[in-house]
Amino acid sequence: MEGFLLNCNKEFMDKYILAIDAGTTSSRAIIFNKNAEVIEIAQYEFNQFFPKEGWVEHDAVEIWNTQLKAIKDVVNKSKIDPNQIDSIGITNQRETTIIWDKQTGKPVYNAIVWQDRRTASFCDELIEKNKTSLIQQKTGLVIDAYFSGTKIKWILDSNQELREKANDNKLLFGTVDTWLIWNLTNGKSHITDPSNASRTLLYNIKDDKWDKDLLDLFDVPENILPNVVDSSSVSTNIDKEILGVEITISGIAGDQQAALFGQLCINEGDIKNTYGTGCFCMMNTGENFVMSKNKMLSTIAWRINGEITYALEGSVFVAGALIQWLRDQLGIIKSSPEVEELAKTVIDNGGLTFVPALSGLAAPYWDPYVQGTIFGITRGTENGHIARAALESIALRTRDIVIEMEKDAGIKFKDLKVDGGASNNNLLMQIQANLLSTNVVRPKTTETTALGVAFLAGLATGFWKDISDLKKLWIEDMSFNPDSNFNSNDIIELWQDRINKLLKVNE
Ligand code: ADP
Repeated sequence: MEGFLLNCNKEFMDKYILAIDAGTTSSRAIIFNKNAEVIEIAQYEFNQFFPKEGWVEHDAVEIWNTQLKAIKDVVNKSKIDPNQIDSIGITNQRETTIIWDKQTGKPVYNAIVWQDRRTASFCDELIEKNKTSLIQQKTGLVIDAYFSGTKIKWILDSNQELREKANDNKLLFGTVDTWLIWNLTNGKSHITDPSNASRTLLYNIKDDKWDKDLLDLFDVPENILPNVVDSSSVSTNIDKEILGVEITISGIAGDQQAALFGQLCINEGDIKNTYGTGCFCMMNTGENFVMSKNKMLSTIAWRINGEITYALEGSVFVAGALIQWLRDQLGIIKSSPEVEELAKTVIDNGGLTFVPALSGLAAPYWDPYVQGTIFGITRGTENGHIARAALESIALRTRDIVIEMEKDAGIKFKDLKVDGGASNNNLLMQIQANLLSTNVVRPKTTETTALGVAFLAGLATGFWKDISDLKKLWIEDMSFNPDSNFNSNDIIELWQDRINKLLKVNE
């Protein structure tokens, strides 16, 4: 690493990349140097609105204001001159839907957040009309309220005036990347990238364009949609008013795809899992759009130089959230990291299986009604067993997904790259390696999402020359190798047997 720095040319050594990480609960801005080290971070939370059961909204203006504040703050705090910012990358919460007036720039409705379920009944109608296969073949997605398409329709249907304005070319739609770029460029650029577009239910990921049939199905006029540019390309400049100089925006990607890139999962079969509140697992499937037979999502990972890379995605709704439940509801730990110590007070799970279905089970079971269950409690059961079974359950749910992904893609992966808050739990990572019989590798930098979009931005401008340049910057923190003495088979067998029993109860 040192050698590399001494040997490489000094160009760009006093330059930086500004990564904008527009998350679900906060707006963050991070400055990376040429060694891909975090120089400074600024972060502001914004309000979450829950106007009705199942509805989740954000104030799009507040998202913009907090993001702008974070951008200005991070530059001030880092004491770098804005002229030293080589370029900007933007990564964002995906699917969240914003529609605004082209002339005034004012949102016509709150941002409808990805978690919002208000369009679930319309999704049921589409399923009843047998649209599932059409939609999967064009978009790689399942029909679900999660994605933007039905949210756009809901906003436009909520008010006749809005529908007319949309038809009259007076409104614009965007996911959070598009909204921020439109504001950063003072209304000059209305753009997104394929990784974000592929989460709308309106984008044909095979043909790489907005799909006329889908626009008809969701009643969305094409004129409100953004232009789709490469995920890594010099696409536009921010307005001079923002930081005093025009700066290039050259990286755009949805958060999970950015994390995949930040983990340098750039070859077919490379896979990463993010252990946060839930788990987000993604496998690079190269130039292949894999049609999942197991209800995984197919999606665009990124488009670089006009070439699309695809990915398979599967998520677990409850992962770190289960540890929060042990902390807040059961009260057997005081902080999330304490779960590791508690689990180490016992040598095994004492016969427990924890099915973490605290809000149903997603892929590959897709049963929204199944409930969280602990099997095997006896008079000898201790808190330590519950903690250990909880950690095992996170690893088992990840295994469920990884196995199906391998089947779908016909690829056996090599290492699982990990990130997210709960990936700091060494015991959990070791259990994961044991249950998958594969190496689990954790990088030094935990900011993989922001790093990914910084990589995309820096590649486009020549800040980093090529992928081999990036590989020198991805540094391993720890690798966990499978322990053959661990009773993986027993745990997996019990898990499969008990989860099947549980699913049967609901039939
Ligand atoms: P998100 O981005 O979804 O908010 P983070 O990546 O910040 O999530 O991770 C936070 C989650 O990770 C919380 O649910 C927390 O319970 C869990 N977590 C954090 N540290 C640990 C740990 N050492 N062991 C297990 N879980 C942890």
